[in-house]
Amino acid sequence: MSKSFDIVVIGSGPGGYPAAIRGAQLGLKVAIIEKYKTLGGTCLNVGCIPSKALLKSTEYYHLAESDFADHGIAVDGLKVDVPKMIQRKRKVVEQITGGVAMLIDGNKIERFEGHGTIVGKNQVKVGDETLEAKNIIIATGSKPTPLRGVAFDKKRIISSTEALELQEVPKELLVVGAGVIGLEMGSVWARLGAKVTIIEYGKTCLPGMDKHVQRQMQKSMQGLGCEFVFDTGVTEATVDGDRVKLVAKNSKDEIVNFEGDYCLVAIGRRPYTDNLGLDSVGVQLDERGFVKIDDHWRTNVDNIYAIGDVVGGLMLAHKAEEEGIAAAEVIAGKPGHVNYNAIPGVVYTWPEVAVVGKTEEQLKQAGIPFNVGKFNFGANGRAVASNETVGFVKVIAHKETDEILGAHMIGPNVSEMIQEICVALEYKASSEDVGITSHAHPTLSESVKEAALACTKRAIHSL
Ligand code: FAD
Ligand code: NAD
Repeated sequence: MSKSFDIVVIGSGPGGYPAAIRGAQLGLKVAIIEKYKTLGGTCLNVGCIPSKALLKSTEYYHLAESDFADHGIAVDGLKVDVPKMIQRKRKVVEQITGGVAMLIDGNKIERFEGHGTIVGKNQVKVGDETLEAKNIIIATGSKPTPLRGVAFDKKRIISSTEALELQEVPKELLVVGAGVIGLEMGSVWARLGAKVTIIEYGKTCLPGMDKHVQRQMQKSMQGLGCEFVFDTGVTEATVDGDRVKLVAKNSKDEIVNFEGDYCLVAIGRRPYTDNLGLDSVGVQLDERGFVKIDDHWRTNVDNIYAIGDVVGGLMLAHKAEEEGIAAAEVIAGKPGHVNYNAIPGVVYTWPEVAVVGKTEEQLKQAGIPFNVGKFNFGANGRAVASNETVGFVKVIAHKETDEILGAHMIGPNVSEMIQEICVALEYKASSEDVGITSHAHPTLSESVKEAALACTKRAIHSL
């Protein structure tokens, strides 16, 4: 007899596994299907976690090479052991994915290993078994977008997955795309001595972000030795032994050639719905292949939900998590909710970038009047003491009501500092609320307080 469940979750990434856990917490009988041996999806296996492991290791190397001397610390014979660095990263992944397996078991969620295919409105097939499902949550995530004319060979023309597994420092790394992956993985290998060239279709790195953040990021990456080539689209690639040659065209229609030993293609990710059986039940996709949902994460088939990267929007782990939890709550008859405006975006380069809410550009376009308060880390005591003075915090508040509408930060540890503004957005706080809140001294987060005060020209530590 086939097993039956209240929810069958397909995919165990940061969208799928929290959905399963929340469903179980609410007393539902839940199954989770994952085609790979380990749980955690892109994020834990080949995304967020391993990239941050390598970013940390290479940050240490870079600091030892370029910053320690300023602190009066001399380092002789500094060397990098890439295979050991990669091995440490693998152990981190093992530990974190093992933790998810423990949570799944601990919440009495039944786990199935294999490719899940929807074979009926209430049936999902995995291996030889067909599970009966009152509800299905599609959480199958995304895959790297291939670039026409530049096919991945996974050896020399690589995606982020292979860039996280290189066993040597590239001599000349070509990166196509100056988005989040291009900058994070470009930083990893540039810090270890690779000559990194980033070729970008648009006019700036991190398209869509605050323009002052973009400018500072470009400057910082250039400081690391990375070269940017904007307004240029790669059209063709050839691999000859251990060399990759790229042909590109710039906005003047000129042909530009590039050569390196590796080429990382990071031009975005596309929804993953291969062999999922969506046709069998008529689940609709949009024109870009994302699963279409309503504002309660329901597809056009009433008991089938979809969340995370596969539905598009911000392709972020914490966005997938919030959606997964909310979808499970809706299934359990509760009012699931996600405030998309309060979802932060972070780039884990050095300096880091952290943003939330609206940009100045968006507000101008919407005709909303606003004040901007900005504070540079150069005037923050803790930042000066730490030799980490690059960057700023910008807080944007409504001109009339003073409600905080957004924040855009680039600097040390801003990935942690953005949370204060996320809470402020959730509670519709004013810039004054944040500005009059006591912040421990000396901390980097005093820059948030000062930027908030600067919205109404009350900053104490800047003129
Ligand atoms: P995924 O994590 O992609 O998980 C989907 C899972 O479903 C996969 O395990 C897949 O094997 C499985 N699956 C698919 N189809 C089936 C099927 N039919 N049957 C069974 N299983 C199936 N986001 C951040 O917020 N912060 C970061 O720092 C960050 N860093 C990143 C770094 C890199 C290099 C990359 C590539 C991504 C990064 N992201 C980051 C993005 C983040 O990884 C994704 O937004 C997130 O993983 C999406 O979660 P998801 O659950 O929707 O899908
Ligand atoms: P992205 O969307 O961040 O950046 C892609 C870049 O490639 C853009 O700048 C785009 O203009 C450029 N581009 C597109 N086509 C091009 C072409 N033909 N030639 C040259 N440039 C081209 O995508 P990504 O960096 O691949 O990352 C994929 C997803 O993973 C993103 O949605 C991101 O949110 C997520 N991610 C998040 C983090 C994080 O949160 N720290 C880290 C890594 C990845």
